[in-house]
Amino acid sequence: MNLPLIIRAEEHSEKIAIVTTDGSFTYRDLLYTSSQIATSLLQNAKDLQEKRVAFLIPPGFEYVATQWGIWRAGGIAVPLCVSHPRPELEYVITNSGASIIVAHPNFESILRSLAEEHNLRFILTSETLPSNVAPLPEVDITRRALILYTSGTTGKPKGVVTTHQNIQAQVTSLNTAWEWTSSDRILHILPLHHIHGIINVLTCALWAGAECHLLSKFDTETVWRRICDGDLTLFMAVPTIYVKLITAWENASKERQKTMSEGCAKMRLMVSGSAALPVQVLEKWQSISGHFLLERYGMTEIGMALSNPLHGERLAGYVGKPLPKVEVRLVDEKGLVSAGTPGEIQVKGPGVFLEYWQNPEATAKAFQDGWFCTGDTAVVENENYRILGRMSVDIIKTGGYKVSALEIEEVLRSHPDIQECAVVGVADIEWGERVCAALVLLQGSKPLTLESFRSWAKERLAVYKVPTQILIVEELPRNAMGKVTKPTVVELFRA
Ligand code: ATP
Ligand code: MG
Repeated sequence: MNLPLIIRAEEHSEKIAIVTTDGSFTYRDLLYTSSQIATSLLQNAKDLQEKRVAFLIPPGFEYVATQWGIWRAGGIAVPLCVSHPRPELEYVITNSGASIIVAHPNFESILRSLAEEHNLRFILTSETLPSNVAPLPEVDITRRALILYTSGTTGKPKGVVTTHQNIQAQVTSLNTAWEWTSSDRILHILPLHHIHGIINVLTCALWAGAECHLLSKFDTETVWRRICDGDLTLFMAVPTIYVKLITAWENASKERQKTMSEGCAKMRLMVSGSAALPVQVLEKWQSISGHFLLERYGMTEIGMALSNPLHGERLAGYVGKPLPKVEVRLVDEKGLVSAGTPGEIQVKGPGVFLEYWQNPEATAKAFQDGWFCTGDTAVVENENYRILGRMSVDIIKTGGYKVSALEIEEVLRSHPDIQECAVVGVADIEWGERVCAALVLLQGSKPLTLESFRSWAKERLAVYKVPTQILIVEELPRNAMGKVTKPTVVELFRA
């Protein structure tokens, strides 16, 4: 049996699959080029089963054809991040134990030297592909397909292994919930080494037989221009991108703003995820675009787990309910919790990953009675899940209380001088942890004293939630996914 993704592509081979600045590519193009790449990979290594192929290619047709080529040759795809410096690329290449590196000429110098140093096969995407396509092996869907590295928000990125079956489950769950069809056209602006970009956008689109319009690089100007074209049906992004798009909209002329808003109105769905969506951003985006952003929750290890509904009421500040075929429960030290009580999110279902790459200890520790322990805390209110944050960095234990950094941040963002903030717990002998806040002030705002800040906050937060120390920073430390790296924020307070 061929992979279901391939069989489906054969069924709509004349349809456009990928659109880039280089042109449009049909599913037939994708099938043909990926079979050439698979042939070439198999010429380099007789059997690719279980072998890891790391690849670094800017977003575009070549990227997708290579990923499919690795899968069709029976290998495990390890996408590298285009914005990673050499040490991070080296970490992923050596940690995954890749035996082949495929690189776009843009990245030749770094990757060729890494390949030589680690004695790996090196293939450039500009090399001529074989014109005779060899018969490709049958790939069972229970085989390992992908190693994605987590964002590295709380520590060193972990290699998350998913099988073809896991990916299929993640993709079909979203295809059903968000009613993907072959008429959809999505603008793809997210990194392609991360679950959001590779699964929710790219693979969901290709499973549906839809069009995926890839931007080679994110910039607000191009994104708005494409939205204004008015031909897109779907858009997915992380909160920081919506913030950037809002700023660009605010700086545009009235006339242009009207066209921008009309472009948004033509879409059927706009989604936010990967980090908490501030309610203020949701409201501002709604006033600009008419879309009440659909917020969902997921992670590299489980795919997407919770989502607001496509139809029906979406609640600001909530991530909705479990997606199709995903089971979710909340657990604390005493066991299952009832509505209104915070607990750890645990997830079960066919989309849950197979293992952390070559780390059986971490894998075993991450599961409890067959449930994956996400390390995230949530509470159910009005039958919807509200994310309280990561147990390791967002749940602050202070003076016997457990407080959610995300909840405090949501309040602080309503301060007239605060543009962005990150709340963390810093170890303290007396309190266990102290609540501290790193603040980015709005341009032109007057200096903020701890005293005036605290008296403002005390009117809005229980006293034990009010930060005892603040630090004014130019910007918050973020990783390649735009997520605030809280361990680095904690270091700022220790410095
Ligand atoms: P690492 O595991 O390396 O620290 P990471 O957890 O950020 O990095 P990802 O798998 O990319 O890596 O992100 C998943 C995490 O993102 C979730 O565990 C959760 O903490 C956060 N997240 C995702 N969606 C949301 C959301 N809608 N609201 C709040 N947090 C979210
Ligand atoms: Mg994580």
